[in-house]
Amino acid sequence: MVRHAIIAGGAGFLGSHLVARLLSEGYHVVCVDDLSTGSEENISEHLENPNFEFVEHDIATPISVECDKIYNLACPASPKQYMTNPIKTFKTSIFGTINLLDLAHQQKCKMLQVSTSEVYGDPTVHPQPETYLGNVNTTGPRACYDEGKRAAEAICFDYQRQLAVDVRVVRVFNTYGPKMDPDDGRVVSNFITQALKGEDITVYGDGSQTRSFCYVDDLIEGFCRTMARETQFAGPINLGNPEEYSVKDLAHKVLSIVHSSSQLVYKELPQDDPKKRRPDITKAQDILDWSPKVSVDDGLARTVDWFRGTRKN
Ligand code: UDP
Repeated sequence: MVRHAIIAGGAGFLGSHLVARLLSEGYHVVCVDDLSTGSEENISEHLENPNFEFVEHDIATPISVECDKIYNLACPASPKQYMTNPIKTFKTSIFGTINLLDLAHQQKCKMLQVSTSEVYGDPTVHPQPETYLGNVNTTGPRACYDEGKRAAEAICFDYQRQLAVDVRVVRVFNTYGPKMDPDDGRVVSNFITQALKGEDITVYGDGSQTRSFCYVDDLIEGFCRTMARETQFAGPINLGNPEEYSVKDLAHKVLSIVHSSSQLVYKELPQDDPKKRRPDITKAQDILDWSPKVSVDDGLARTVDWFRGTRKN
């Protein structure tokens, strides 16, 4: 029997990788995306596939689709993009999640809510376990995303408790890989495109802030394991690679992989930019038997090849 999956945000960076993975597993996939930050190019290879359907739709408006599994990845994730239209970002998180929870309830199917490490804000606990409640500036420019995702988590667990909806929440840490939008302003895509063009590498602040970088294939494996698990687990799960680098170290890594002679230039640090971030993935290791397999060196080399046009995905 063919299983039906709906992927909201399926034309985005992570969504398009998930589309490919579920198609390869024999799913019929309905990709729902309003193309505000995703692109048709990301899914163009599937358009002729009879198991694939693309619906251009803003998930903040209810949708009715027959499905066995729902994946909610619909939300701009890069600060540059989510701050462009913060009201839309917030509505996408809240209304989009509620609409998909209603669909999951109505269809009695499992749902994956893709949340974010941004729920921890500028963390005062390091590394961050799921039990850490976070340090988010409620009124700052990142709040549309951070608080939107926090509210989305809250309503997921309300649907779980009140209506017994089988929703699973994963908190995604910085992820990179092929199909990243070169213009979305994120650190990996910026540094690689700048290094390839021989342009200055824009380090914000003094570059001592840290992030932990997960290769996209590892993350998608984490999504699949989360949904494959028979029984529900309590609370959210962190998914990310604990390999932590300062932004300055990342810049040097990219320069050495690209063999670029670009120079580092220092720009103003954006407001509320978290100083450090690294996932505690003990829970994912215990519950899902999951941990990342691709090292940052290897993953960056693959990503550079994709930006060069010498690698498909
Ligand atoms: N960053 C940077 N130069 C850039 C883009 C980003 O130094 O050209 C920094 C940014 O200030 C942050 C880190 O890299 O400290 C990660 O930024 P990104 O937007 O990729 O993700 P997020 O802040 O959401 O983790």
